This record gives sequence, C-alpha cells and structure tokens, in this order.
Amino acid sequence: MVLVSVNMIHSELSQKIRVVANQKKVDNCSEHKLNFYNNYAKVVSETLKKPFFQKFLHWIIRKEQIEKNVVNDIQVRVFPFQKENGNCLAGRCYHNNGVILIFPKKHSFVERKLENHKKRKVRFYLKSRAMAALIHELLHVKYKGKENKVRKLTQKYFHIFIELNNPDDPIAKNTLQVMF
Ligand SMILES: [Zn+2]
Repeated sequence: MVLVSVNMIHSELSQKIRVVANQKKVDNCSEHKLNFYNNYAKVVSETLKKPFFQKFLHWIIRKEQIEKNVVNDIQVRVFPFQKENGNCLAGRCYHNNGVILIFPKKHSFVERKLENHKKRKVRFYLKSRAMAALIHELLHVKYKGKENKVRKLTQKYFHIFIELNNPDDPIAKNTLQVMF
C-alpha cells in the first residue's frame, strides 16, 4: 500500500512539468537561437522527469515535510530571465498559485562555455543547474523568503544527489565546485 502511494506521488509531480515559451519571444527569436532554446528546454524537462531524480525529490519532500500539493505547475521556460544586474535567474516560485518556473542560461553563455569546455561537461552543468533550481524552489515552498537556509539546503541535497549517482565522475565533482 505504502509503495503504491509513493509511486503515485512521483508520477504526479513529474506530470506537472511542462515546457512553456513566451510567444512574443518565439516570434522575435532567430531560427538558430530558437532551435537552441527548444532543445535546451527539452533536455531539462526530460532530466527533471527522470525517475531517479523524481525519487530523490520525493525523498526531500518527505524529509523536509514539504506540502507537495501546493505545487500545481512546474514550467520549464524556453527563454532565459535576465535580472537587472545582468545575471540569469535559475528559478522562481510563486506561492499564491503554486507555480514554479525553471529558466535556462543564455545562448551566449553556453556558446562561450563550449569554446573552452567539452560538450559533455557543459551539458552536465546545465542539467545540474536545472535540477538544483527545482530542488531550491521546492524548498522555498516550505521556507518562504528564507534564501540563506534554502541555499544551504540545496547545496546539501545536491551534494547527496551527486554522491548517489556520480560518485567517481570528475565532471560531477567539478560541476559541484562551479555551482556552490
Ligand atoms: Zn531562492
């Protein structure tokens, strides 16, 4: 009985993940960039829906006693969100309607990274960034506005996740150093 309900919760959360694009931005985007962002969003969406990641999220939800029913919609946004300081936002959580947004890095950032790093490394970083962003925003469901606490917990949980899935991968180790 317990196992059945746990599996249901996994699929429920992953069913809430969808790719969303701002139509105005689609219309104003070059074909090359649009292909890039669409592909990026597809990879992120697939990564966030992976059973091993969903299982891990559910473990965090139980451990932190996060009210999972509060989350109605997890949007993998196709286009980046640039803050006033020029940095790109990774995620955002709207408590009143239970919406979590996950944003990509900019096309120019990724192109620059690909000049000096292997494709696998860059992809691993971008996927990790998206996973950590979802963990971060889920934690905000419980810890509203507590940025420092959420940051510390995200770091702790993401380290555990990497330890479980990529313990001997130097790229994973390096990614952790870059991210936190
Ligand atoms: Zn935050």
